[in-house]
Amino acid sequence: MTHSVVTRFAPSPTGFLHIGGARTALFNWLYAKKRGGKMLLRIEDTDRERSTEAAIAAILDGLKWLELDWDGDVIYQFSRAARHREVAEQLLASGKAYLCYATAEELAAMREKARAEGRTRLYDGMWRDRDTAEAPAGMKPTIRLKAPQTGETVIEDQVQGRVVWQNENLDDLVLLRGDGNPTYMLAVVVDDHDMGVTHVIRGDDHLINAARQKQIYDALGWDIPNMSHIPLIHGPDGSKLSKRHGALGVDAYRALGYLPAALRNYLVRLGWSHGDQEIFSTQEMIEAFDLPAIGRSAARFDFAKLENL
Ligand code: GLU
Repeated sequence: MTHSVVTRFAPSPTGFLHIGGARTALFNWLYAKKRGGKMLLRIEDTDRERSTEAAIAAILDGLKWLELDWDGDVIYQFSRAARHREVAEQLLASGKAYLCYATAEELAAMREKARAEGRTRLYDGMWRDRDTAEAPAGMKPTIRLKAPQTGETVIEDQVQGRVVWQNENLDDLVLLRGDGNPTYMLAVVVDDHDMGVTHVIRGDDHLINAARQKQIYDALGWDIPNMSHIPLIHGPDGSKLSKRHGALGVDAYRALGYLPAALRNYLVRLGWSHGDQEIFSTQEMIEAFDLPAIGRSAARFDFAKLENL
């Protein structure tokens, strides 16, 4: 049986469709098309304070304009909160997670101590093996993952290669907050698993999250999807892309009169190249695109070059 490819674009709706997000969507779309698979769209609206309807509309609109169609209905992450809670409870029941009653003050003190001692593991395991009968009355606990204390967590990344973390540096992650809401880390794992995602292609600012997510996959006995963390886009001067390099929203290029095919052609070449070829038809792009061909160094967004297209 052939294993069909399922990718996803999973934006957080906190602002317009950024060209970096559009490139991530394009890479996911191309890879799915190339492999005869599907690209799903998941709106990660779990952060209720920062997610807005206007941002959701802008993202959907920007993707449609770029002709990056997704398969099936849009999945809204927040609507799956009950399922995320269920998985957190399952981990608790199997002893892979525990209730943590640490107060905000205790956590702040732990963080300070860890920083002073130069440790990246911030939580000191206070409630890891403690009897919850000692829990302060009336306090709502968080659920934390009982992360491995020793050994390594390894991600075999199609773009970054083999990336290794020492477990002693990784925290016991919060999976469920005191208010019963899932954290981003838990929600992503459960959704990618339930949606049958086979390939995760996203910005390399999420690489450390891949290690954290791997620990959740392991605790659940689930397989982690194939990972590709693509280098972020920088400005022509090599610094982090910002407004002074030009407009950052897809809508701005649309308003300036660029054609979607021209913007797609420009975006695909940010981090991915195919010999000297500069202009690709959509079909050529689909055929030539591949994940290992994405470089590990930051792509440079040069507004002047886009203007020549
Ligand atoms: N929602 C995350 C973001 O917009 C992406 C999460 C992911 O792709 O796993 O940065």
